Amino acid sequence: MTDLELAMSRTWAEINLDDLARNTEILRKTLTPSAKFLAVVKANAYGHGMTQCARKLQDSGADWLAVATVPEGAELRENGITLPILCLGQTQPGLAPLMAEFGITQAVGDVSNAKALSDYAASSGKVIRIHIKIDTGMSRTGFYWPGDPEDKERTARGIMTACGMPGLYAEGMFTHFAAADGDSDFTRTQLARLLEAREYLRGMGQNFELVHSAASVGILDYPAAHLDMGRFGLVLYGYASTETGNEDSTLGLHPVMTVKSRITAVRSLPAGTTISYGRTYRLTRDSIMAVLPMGYADGMPRILSNNYGVKIHDAVCPIRGRVCMDMMMADVTDVPGVKAGDVATVFDGELMPIAAKNAGTIIHEIVCSPSARVPRVYIDGGKMAV
Ligand SMILES: *Cc1c(COP(=O)(O)O)cnc(C)c1O
Repeated sequence: MTDLELAMSRTWAEINLDDLARNTEILRKTLTPSAKFLAVVKANAYGHGMTQCARKLQDSGADWLAVATVPEGAELRENGITLPILCLGQTQPGLAPLMAEFGITQAVGDVSNAKALSDYAASSGKVIRIHIKIDTGMSRTGFYWPGDPEDKERTARGIMTACGMPGLYAEGMFTHFAAADGDSDFTRTQLARLLEAREYLRGMGQNFELVHSAASVGILDYPAAHLDMGRFGLVLYGYASTETGNEDSTLGLHPVMTVKSRITAVRSLPAGTTISYGRTYRLTRDSIMAVLPMGYADGMPRILSNNYGVKIHDAVCPIRGRVCMDMMMADVTDVPGVKAGDVATVFDGELMPIAAKNAGTIIHEIVCSPSARVPRVYIDGGKMAV
């Protein structure tokens, strides 16, 4: 067996890097021409394979990459990625040497974190680049910018202190929207708060080269939020909406990931038979069941038990009974000629929004779900490789 055959012998994810490049081209046109294009590749590039996606994005003209952790950034550097990398998550000061060594720009959301990074940088003669994170309403991390004038004055002084610390270079400032996909009043309020902070700090003598605010949905829906850089996440991977996918979109994005599973066995079972753990499904007629070698340990959400259908020979076949750790069963009674070795499509551009809806979640979570046991097979320049 070749490596490719081995990868495609059970359950695998096909990642179409040509589509990733096409999406990058499409999305570049949605962004204010002067703004930088940042591609978010955190969490293994939303499950798509971080290094491979980052390389393709670098070759396709992305200006920046973003990760959630410093070790993710270090892994990119070790694999030859030279673009600037922003670490979006707050990082323990113990990782400051890694930031400096690999040239990773760090988000900083409070004075004590800035101080700890500065202590390391100054004492070792290094420079750590930072982007000041402003909390305009997400209430996660960042310098807090709602509040009364006194709060703002205090926050601004804190930011000035952080920016002036030895060994730190304050290159950027950013915020993150809490409800860009639903609450336009609040999104506008958050943007206004960021712009107010920018003006306030300008008045105190602090200018930033890169001020940014919008992620995928924010970029598409709020051109005023583009500022100096757009942070593209889910849209890169081919979905214009976190819930409906591309249903209402004319952008023409290409979903990058397709998850497939090779049927292990096809079995005829009589009416009345119950399927899988807990006997939650009872066959109402004599049926033919396909066993798929994919379970919740592969990233198949167990909540989709009796609540989803996979594509086999282009027909949607319902999942019967509970999803197990390593297997699940699909009803192929109405699909002629299904046999062991045939391939089922478990998630693709059409199915992904259905899976998200039925699992009560967003597409982000479904694309991130294929586990380490699921090999990624890459299509690049029309060729397939592991
Ligand atoms: C994950 C993340 C993004 C990308 O979000 P999408 O909705 O996938 O575009 C952008 N900015 C920050 C701060 C993030 O954490």
